[in-house]
Amino acid sequence: MKVLLVEDEPQLAEVIARSLVREHFMVEVARTKAEALLKVADHTYDLILLDIMLPGGSGLEVLRALKESGKQGNVIIISAKDSLDDKLAGLDLGADDYLTKPFHIAELNARVRSVLRRKQFGGSKAITAANVELHPEDRTVQVAGQPLALNRKEFDLLLYLLLNKDRLVTRSSLAEHVWGDHADEGDDLDFIYAQVKNLRRKLKQGDAAVEVQAVYGIGYRLVET
Ligand code: CA
Repeated sequence: MKVLLVEDEPQLAEVIARSLVREHFMVEVARTKAEALLKVADHTYDLILLDIMLPGGSGLEVLRALKESGKQGNVIIISAKDSLDDKLAGLDLGADDYLTKPFHIAELNARVRSVLRRKQFGGSKAITAANVELHPEDRTVQVAGQPLALNRKEFDLLLYLLLNKDRLVTRSSLAEHVWGDHADEGDDLDFIYAQVKNLRRKLKQGDAAVEVQAVYGIGYRLVET
């Protein structure tokens, strides 16, 4: 899962980013309004943590841009200003939650989990397809009730493919989501082949009733078999 952290205060950004990485998120950071606008125009994120008072303008403008582009992701506003106006404007522009600084990192993690569970996982703690059950929070996978051991990248690939079940996922979007915003720069995406190949083999060996189909030259699609 890829998170964009929009925060100009370096120390706070570092603390939050470190905590998210510990929770196994891929984290990208933007420090100004302009940087954030560029990021959301060029990439997609599973979650955006958005500060309001930014160098160059308001985080609300980033929300507005997201809304206008139709690319509205999951957004949690993190703001020092406990202002009802900002809160209402933010929620009105599609933000999912609002956290006032200073907050405890544990509180932020809980809100992140809650928004993702509600928005990405349909309110459930697990994502299922046929006999495959993936638990994003404790990072485990079961096939017909039996644990399936995956390495970190294989897990992240499976999560992204499951979230996009039956949809064609391009190699570059897969690379971005699992390896970060700059993974698709340059044309050598061979590292993806190796990881997908291992994932497919493990799914097959575990008798999973899903398969990752390769769409030649484009990407992959996870389907139930
Ligand atoms: Ca700020």
